[in-house]
Amino acid sequence: MSNTAPLDQVGGSAATAPVRELLPGRDVVLGGVRGFAVTRTLPQRPRSLIGAWCFADTYGPVHLVPDDEGMRVPPHPHTGLQTVTWLIDGDVLHRDSLGNTRTVRPGQLNLMTAGHGIAHSEESPPGRPPVLGGAQLWVALPDRHRDVAAHFEHHPDLPRRVEPGVTVTVIAGELDGVASPARTYTALFGAEVAFESAALTQVPLDPDFEYGALTLAGSAEVDGVALPTGALLYLGRGRSALDLRAGGPGRVLLLGGEPFDDPIVMWWNFVGRDHDAIVAAREDWTAGRRFGPVHGYDGAALPAPALPTTRLLPRARPR
Ligand code: MN
Repeated sequence: MSNTAPLDQVGGSAATAPVRELLPGRDVVLGGVRGFAVTRTLPQRPRSLIGAWCFADTYGPVHLVPDDEGMRVPPHPHTGLQTVTWLIDGDVLHRDSLGNTRTVRPGQLNLMTAGHGIAHSEESPPGRPPVLGGAQLWVALPDRHRDVAAHFEHHPDLPRRVEPGVTVTVIAGELDGVASPARTYTALFGAEVAFESAALTQVPLDPDFEYGALTLAGSAEVDGVALPTGALLYLGRGRSALDLRAGGPGRVLLLGGEPFDDPIVMWWNFVGRDHDAIVAAREDWTAGRRFGPVHGYDGAALPAPALPTTRLLPRARPR
């Protein structure tokens, strides 16, 4: 997905102890003929990172009528991050400048590592199911890997822990000694806790990681806090387990990782080290360099917005 608003805030130190910080998402309309409404929970001014997770949009369920174009995000570039596409309803067709064309479906993971640079488009494919919903997440790459060669992974079969009424899917990192095949560049964790009915479960956590829980559908109680759809609960560090409970169907995304301390600047669809890196990425996209074309998308690529008139300041998280 493409971020339409420039963002350069990096705030919120990694809590050293367990906390319960409830962060409601905000409504954002992405570009397109009719716009596409999402709920953005990361970054926010008080909390811009959870581990290396630096961006989280959730959307849906969107009921697509026959003449509705659904999701339609034209070719756009990324640098310095990984994109994670996670669906709970519908299909999204990904095309990128490495030549990958891949439809992702619920329960599958599309992971795109931008590194030095890649361009992609995302759209509802022809014949798509009538309902669309899911999450678009970004992971910041650490300094030592920020310029890694771009690559794309599709993981149709992720490890799952199945209990009566609740299934935990490991998207990134590991749970109970079972690891996701997704390649990550920092110590990271991501999982979906899907309640099919009223149930209670406990997920083991790493006390050195910070965590957050984001409700994708329905509602759930996380560490005793009622979490409505689209809200994020920041959980801090120092936990070895987390209790989750639901009174009926619902889905919660757990995001976590080693606190990410490298200073970064986020602007448009780029993560960079400083202002000059962002300017260079923008110039390369505008001049048709670095990122390469995306073939097969029916429409023009997204132009980069104008840079702010002041320098973008990299901000390290306060410790
Ligand atoms: Mn994107």
